[in-house]
Amino acid sequence: MKVDVAIVGAGAGGLTLAIILGRAGLRVLLLDSRKEIGPVGRGELIQPLGLEILDELGLLESLFSLPHIRNTEFAFLDGRGRPLMCSRYAFGDERFPFSVSLEPHHMDRMLLDCLGGLSNVEIRFGASYSEHHLSEEGADLWWSEGGRMYQTQTAVLVGDDGRRSKVRADAGIAGRIKTYEDSYLSWSFDCPQDAPESVKSSLGRYFIGPGKIFFLFAVSPVRRFFLYMLAQRDRKTLEEKGLPVFLSELDAWVPGLGDTLRRTGLGKLEEIPEMTVMKVDLDRWSRGPVVLVGDAAHAMNPHVAQGRNQAMEDARVLGRALTKDLAAGPVGVLRAIAEYESLRRPRTIDLHRLADEMTWIWNSSNPFIVSLRERVFRGMDRSPSLSRKIVRTISGLSFEPLTTLDKLKAFWAG
Ligand SMILES: Cc1cc2nc3c(=O)[nH]c(=O)nc-3n(C[C@H](O)[C@H](O)[C@H](O)COP(=O)(O)OP(=O)(O)OC[C@H]3O[C@@H](n4cnc5c(N)ncnc54)[C@H](O)[C@@H]3O)c2cc1C
Repeated sequence: MKVDVAIVGAGAGGLTLAIILGRAGLRVLLLDSRKEIGPVGRGELIQPLGLEILDELGLLESLFSLPHIRNTEFAFLDGRGRPLMCSRYAFGDERFPFSVSLEPHHMDRMLLDCLGGLSNVEIRFGASYSEHHLSEEGADLWWSEGGRMYQTQTAVLVGDDGRRSKVRADAGIAGRIKTYEDSYLSWSFDCPQDAPESVKSSLGRYFIGPGKIFFLFAVSPVRRFFLYMLAQRDRKTLEEKGLPVFLSELDAWVPGLGDTLRRTGLGKLEEIPEMTVMKVDLDRWSRGPVVLVGDAAHAMNPHVAQGRNQAMEDARVLGRALTKDLAAGPVGVLRAIAEYESLRRPRTIDLHRLADEMTWIWNSSNPFIVSLRERVFRGMDRSPSLSRKIVRTISGLSFEPLTTLDKLKAFWAG
């Protein structure tokens, strides 16, 4: 079998890329080792950047027909639930003054449906990448499905196979790959109609206390989702004290949440899945015709709520470059990949820096840092120009982090 582009991994990046290349008439093979797309046990934010890409693909209306919530603002509160800052998308002057929160499998299924009409795109679920070797025309790819091994010749091999990418390892692309110390407990639930207003509210809320982070948001009119930071140093205590102590901690932030979770069937702390967070920071994203997108290239801390959006942006930029240059043969492929890397890597380096800074400040339990942080948050809330910068960065459409001077201004204003 021979294709123009083989994509390993049908995450947001792989699916978006397959749509772009497929619509351009290229022969595409898309592999994913999962049997099918299913719930991942958490929600995600589609920022204005992701909305812009979906709009460009003509898929915005399809997105809005899925179970979702539009977030026009997010509230930031301290460890006792007192307001610190309200971040409003309208400050960003964007075409989309909101983000969309949803369970990501809904969106991925929609992207997959969109590929259904393209006979030049072959999609194989339950098919795993095994290895590849470079050839004169690109790469020879070996993959397995149902116990059988297959070989495919491809001009370009794209690794969208996630933060622990095997394509990346086999291509010998090295870098700084780390797992953050603090992980997250993540849970989605249907909110009973008679739940307290504090739980039913669809306002996305970040509670940031000393060494504590708790994030609650709505992913549909009835479905809610939370992330609870499991700080390394608290792990043992929490495991010993179990669910009652955990739920009373949640109640202190969102009155009635503990009781609601019990009623929805949560019986043991161990039932709540733990999600580790990784950083993938590479010096290069390609080797010859093998190129990485999404988390395989740049997994980042979810504090910036950007991973899926950046994976889609990778797909947009790489898709355009390959569509333009692939017909020129191996030289065109290398040119397209070089263009992609030079356009995309700098932004993700910036986002990594921002994510690390946010992690250091937000995850801290040091009383001095906590009080500085809270004062800066309050100051940002009082300064429309600083709020604007934050929203524009979080939207993914531009990168305008706060400078040291901005932080000082916020400190004085707070
Ligand atoms: C707690 C948490 C919260 C997050 N919140 C947000 C958010 O609000 N907004 C946001 O934009 N991002 C968020 N992210 C990040 C986001 O989930 C990822 O960045 C995004 O899913 C990456 O997409 P991807 O295209 O790189 O592929 P991935 O989703 O990483 O998918 C990789 C695919 O490759 C397949 N695969 C792996 N190995 C093989 C193989 N050998 N053969 C075949 N297939 C293979 C896997 O089955 C998988 O389907 C969050 C992440 C975490 C952990």
